Amino acid sequence: MIQISDIMDRIKTYSEDADMGAVMQAYLLAARAHQGQFRKSGEPYLSHPLEVAYILTGLRMDIDTVATALLHDALEDNPITKAEMESLVGPVVTELVDGVTKIGKLRYRSKEELQAENFRKMMLAMSKDLRVILVKLADRLHNMRTLEGHKPEKRKIIARETIEVYVPIANRLGLTRFKSELEDLCFRYLEEDLFEEVTTFLDETQADREQYIDKVQKVLEHEMHEAGLKGNISGRAKAISSIVRKMKTSGVHVSQVNDLLAFRVLCDDLGSCYAALGTIHSVFAPVPGRIKDYIARPKPNGYQSLHTTVVGPDNQRIEVQIRTHEMHQYAENGIAAHWRYKEGHLALSPEDVVKISRIREAFESAQDLLDSEEFMETVKVEFYSDEVFVFTPNGEVKTFPLGATPLDFAYAIHSDIGEHCTGAKVSGRMVPLSYQLQSGDSVEILTSPNQRPNRDWLGLARTGRALSRIRRYLRQQEEESALRMGREILGGELARLGWSVDRTRSEGRLESYLKSRKMKSVDSLLVEVARGHVSPSVVAKAILPEGAWLSRQEEARRSRLASLFNRFSTRKSQSPVLITGEDGLLVNYAKCCNPLPGEDVVGFITRGRGITVHRDDCETLQRLDEERTVHVEWDLSQSSKHSNVLKIYCSDRPGILAKVTKVCEQAQVNIEKAEGLTAKDGSAVVILQLAVTDLGELTRVIRNIEKIQGVESVERSAHR
Ligand code: MN
Repeated sequence: MIQISDIMDRIKTYSEDADMGAVMQAYLLAARAHQGQFRKSGEPYLSHPLEVAYILTGLRMDIDTVATALLHDALEDNPITKAEMESLVGPVVTELVDGVTKIGKLRYRSKEELQAENFRKMMLAMSKDLRVILVKLADRLHNMRTLEGHKPEKRKIIARETIEVYVPIANRLGLTRFKSELEDLCFRYLEEDLFEEVTTFLDETQADREQYIDKVQKVLEHEMHEAGLKGNISGRAKAISSIVRKMKTSGVHVSQVNDLLAFRVLCDDLGSCYAALGTIHSVFAPVPGRIKDYIARPKPNGYQSLHTTVVGPDNQRIEVQIRTHEMHQYAENGIAAHWRYKEGHLALSPEDVVKISRIREAFESAQDLLDSEEFMETVKVEFYSDEVFVFTPNGEVKTFPLGATPLDFAYAIHSDIGEHCTGAKVSGRMVPLSYQLQSGDSVEILTSPNQRPNRDWLGLARTGRALSRIRRYLRQQEEESALRMGREILGGELARLGWSVDRTRSEGRLESYLKSRKMKSVDSLLVEVARGHVSPSVVAKAILPEGAWLSRQEEARRSRLASLFNRFSTRKSQSPVLITGEDGLLVNYAKCCNPLPGEDVVGFITRGRGITVHRDDCETLQRLDEERTVHVEWDLSQSSKHSNVLKIYCSDRPGILAKVTKVCEQAQVNIEKAEGLTAKDGSAVVILQLAVTDLGELTRVIRNIEKIQGVESVERSAHR
């Protein structure tokens, strides 16, 4: 069993002045946390974190990472709290431990390719610091090494998860040693028979193989020496997982796999690598098509090497990898090799590299950042930072752009769910529609049959899918309300003349009008009327017999007389157009008078813009063409928000604005804008733009503002 002293000894080999006190502190806390706990194998639980920490010292990791490894299971099911840990080992390690604990709680369920990929991305995105992932990988490695303690079915589940999630992550980060050991351990449990076949064969042939390796090594060493090249040459059997894979793809027995052996040549510099390749090819004939130059074209994870397959003694095929020592460090330990690296690459896919190139630039340009610990502090996981990964209730992973809300999630399930979405339960907690999803959230959508999309939703949704569905719904709504309003407007006009839409229809009057205007249907005419493209009086004039029209003109003349007393009395005899406040593009509220539900209002049909609603005492309205006014009334069964501006005259006391704000907060009225102007005489004006539901609400707010000490008067202002 690994002891803490083994860990400290190994740290000393690569970092003489490391803070061993911090390692000891973490160890003591871990020992306390796991006291009396045992692993499935019967060993004290503490052996596991010690092993994990030891694995990481093999990667020459910094003290914080080693301490994190020692404590990585200490927050789970243990009497240690985060606060306590922080006071003993500091915030950095505690944060890292918390990160490991969090991603440890993610539950991987699906085996589908896309799900697996999303799950991996989620793990990376959630580990804001790469060291979290490194600890997690080391943890998994040790768990895989000690899998024997579990029941056979459980072993298979863990091995399956490892090969689908952890192996690709290790590969992506270039941690080849981790990757190939993990993979071999997975094959042991997932491909038991083949694994057995290969290990038995390798055992039986070991002596022969060693002899053969020795022979090749000597030949190559000699030739390299003759050519004046320096290089370390070593040979070995390939990884079991890669042999098993070959057996499966070509359906052969292990004895028939013809390139079991791999040689590695490590050179001092790049030029020697290419020279060594030439030398080797002059001794052993290369197999055509098997030369790969990953130095000129590194693999997506940053791996660099020359590969070739040659025909060795006894006609055996052998693979040779040639690279520099630096490249080798990187090939083995990937991103972790950066601890000691000056000019390395970050081991990520090309897109990932672009995303973190900013950090790399900082790293490469700032000389004083070359300290390894400081470097890893800087390399936070920035890839995938523009995406969030969340779970559905049945454990599926879904990807959304950063800033996405429950609406995006709801529409991603079904547009019907989206349209009725009222909020969500995120990891058991209720959140509003405006909540921004976080990676790792488990999201359950809440719906109500009464919920409907509205304009505000366009500001909440982030995904194209949700936005286009919301827009389509709003367009349909607008169409429907245009139809209703058009019927009300034209119907009102006709009713006043003793006619109705139905009567003109049944007499065929409307149809011939439609034909002359090349319109498809009565509905499209009504929509055009509501939008103000066609004037209702023009339609009436065109479709009614001349007598009816004349009497309308006569009435208009009389109404002008009447308007001396009450300008809009005649209009009021029409049945009203109901304004719901949700009419979208069709209904505008005049900026000159800011009408509110509860106030008497008049509609004015503006060409192409539908109805503009004015207060009936609005001065602007007096100057507009009476022909185009229409009787409107608020539909008070609907509530909506309307902007209104207040001018508050007060003595310039500090704190008045705060008090005004408090009044609005208490009344649950939103302040859209606030501005204070001070005059020389010490008086002040506060201009406040509020979103209110109706006149009653505004009146109550005004009354309460008037009660504030220092406020002289409050005026509702038409203009800003
Ligand atoms: Mn663990």
